[in-house]
Amino acid sequence: MLDNLPLLAAVNLHKTYRKHAIEVPVLTGVDLEVFVGEFLSIVGSSGSGKSTLLHLLGTLDKPDEGRILLDSERIDNLPAEQRDRLRNETFGFIFQFYHLLPELTTLENVLMPKMIALPVRGWFRQRRSLKQQAIELLDRVGLGHRLHHKPRELSGGEMQRAAIARALINRPRILLADEPTGNLDADKGAEIIRLLRDLNRQDRLTIIMVTHNMEIVGNTDRVVRLVKGRVEEATNGERPALAGWSALPAG
Ligand code: ADP
Ligand code: MG
Repeated sequence: MLDNLPLLAAVNLHKTYRKHAIEVPVLTGVDLEVFVGEFLSIVGSSGSGKSTLLHLLGTLDKPDEGRILLDSERIDNLPAEQRDRLRNETFGFIFQFYHLLPELTTLENVLMPKMIALPVRGWFRQRRSLKQQAIELLDRVGLGHRLHHKPRELSGGEMQRAAIARALINRPRILLADEPTGNLDADKGAEIIRLLRDLNRQDRLTIIMVTHNMEIVGNTDRVVRLVKGRVEEATNGERPALAGWSALPAG
């Protein structure tokens, strides 16, 4: 695979929500290319369509018009089961509110995507080594001492770390993060961004992070902004001048 081809690309994406008789155009021609090993931030004010775009990129939803390309192959129009597989294997997702299952322990939450992906017999055959992998991942995100805690016994930052471990258990190529620090105070948020940065650098994990918080994007490779349904590059695809960006108003 050539690194000068985008890993993931959006071409002319349009998305309009229809509620009753009212049409709300959200994306009106989004073009975006993301490269292997990039840590990309997508910023924009609340309601500008950031979550919508992230959902389309991860095949959680379909565009009305336009295409999503993974390794130059179209993925937005794949049959449902192939998109399910992509969501389980190629993409990892983390969200503002973690979405951990409250009745499961940290370790069980991290193992859940494996349980879903494997046939029952495969799960039982592999569960020891999978458990080991999950424990290693939880160690990696700093939660080795919280394996058997339930989500309600964790802090917000710890819940997001558990969610990150869960997102990584199937070794995704791309991590999609929707406001991952949105429910954390500044210090805890900065720790989460540092963790994502480490995963990006050490494992060359490609990360696409949506946020309306301009303070946290300084530690990412590139920032694009959603404005009026389209993407504006910070610069011509170069690393943005971060000093200039921090002066932009938060959305
Ligand atoms: P952001 O993540 O940037 O805050 P969203 O992508 O969540 O923005 O939403 C963009 C716009 O689309 C908002 O006006 C929102 O109300 C609307 N919207 C989002 N999801 C839906 C939906 N499922 N049905 C109708 N309108 C929606
Ligand atoms: Mg959103």
